[in-house]
Amino acid sequence: MSYVYLDNAATTPLCAEAIAAMAPYMDVEGEHFGNANSLYTIGRNAFAELESARETVTRALHASRPDEIVFTSGATESDNAALVGLSLAQMEKRRLKGKLNPGRIVVSRLEHHAVLHVEPMLKALGFAVDFVGNDETGLVTPADLEAVLCEDTVLVSIMMANNEVGIVEPVAELAQVAHKAGALFHTDATQAAGKVPIDLKGMGVDAASFSAHKINGPKGVGVLYLKAGTPFMPYLVGGGQERGMRSGTQNVMGAAGAAAAFKRAAENVGVYQTRVAQLRDYAYERLCKLPGVSRMVEASAENPDGYLPNIVCVSVRGWESESLILRMDLAGYCVSGGSACSSNSLDPSHVLAAMGVDRKRALGMLRLSLSLETTQEDIDGAVEALGTIISK
Ligand code: PLP
Repeated sequence: MSYVYLDNAATTPLCAEAIAAMAPYMDVEGEHFGNANSLYTIGRNAFAELESARETVTRALHASRPDEIVFTSGATESDNAALVGLSLAQMEKRRLKGKLNPGRIVVSRLEHHAVLHVEPMLKALGFAVDFVGNDETGLVTPADLEAVLCEDTVLVSIMMANNEVGIVEPVAELAQVAHKAGALFHTDATQAAGKVPIDLKGMGVDAASFSAHKINGPKGVGVLYLKAGTPFMPYLVGGGQERGMRSGTQNVMGAAGAAAAFKRAAENVGVYQTRVAQLRDYAYERLCKLPGVSRMVEASAENPDGYLPNIVCVSVRGWESESLILRMDLAGYCVSGGSACSSNSLDPSHVLAAMGVDRKRALGMLRLSLSLETTQEDIDGAVEALGTIISK
């Protein structure tokens, strides 16, 4: 089957580096299956391999120390754990100070459902949830955040880059504003990794979420960055692995594959920022010449360069995403209508709704997400295929 894959924000194929790092663990006679918590040699070897993977991720993301990196099952778990674990730890601190009100949590409306759908859980735990505003390009400014913070805010969660429209938020400034108000700051950096430089130390965030399968690593492996000293009540408890932050026998093979992927992603950010960004602009230019096709969001005047280099998001007038995706598939192109999990075409994306995009335009959303392997011919082919489809 031959196809052109233009849905790299949904997931990515394994890179050679990740396959090579995981290969030793798939040998039936190998010595790499040990439990990283066992005391004998193969257990200690597994532990050493796990810690080596942790060090690689620490360097790739510019964290301060390896014990700030917690391996998880993906960004969904990292997001859930961050929201619940940080909030509960803050509630406990407040309780010790005699404050009975658990506190308030601020999130943006553009977040992935892995953040937004934690809301009922937080409310059941007694927290209040506030939404920070954004402009029509999806940008959340420090002033927007200041407007919603109050002395009871214990945690702010705003994504580093959006998976649907590709806006990159000014996370370092937002973290400063949250800190000034005495709140912790978490960011979902799943889509930003490998596409924009990530300097966790420099950004000053307390927690961040990542996923290996978005950067050519294995599925089911993620990272939760927890800055040293950040109050956190573990979400998964049991054997106390991951220094007590995330119990469960560690997936050493997955961690090794993820580490190779994070290293490769960090090495290739420059290529994304130059060659892939040019291809993105080329794709916008060609797509927007087709009748009825327009860029979903114009670049923000306040934030003109603040978009991921690999996301192309357009609206196709008179069409719904689902039928476009199926027709593009028949033509040999894998594209999407936004988030891979929102398959009901009658529901426009919550991200576009939060940006005030009108329902009809939002329903015609088509997203192409590029990779290091994407070529100009791939873009030309996709534009021609779309042109043929919408001319019928
Ligand atoms: N956060 C963002 C911004 C995402 O794009 C995704 C994946 O779609 C997730 C979280 C969830 O990641 P995972 O599939 O690793 O659970």
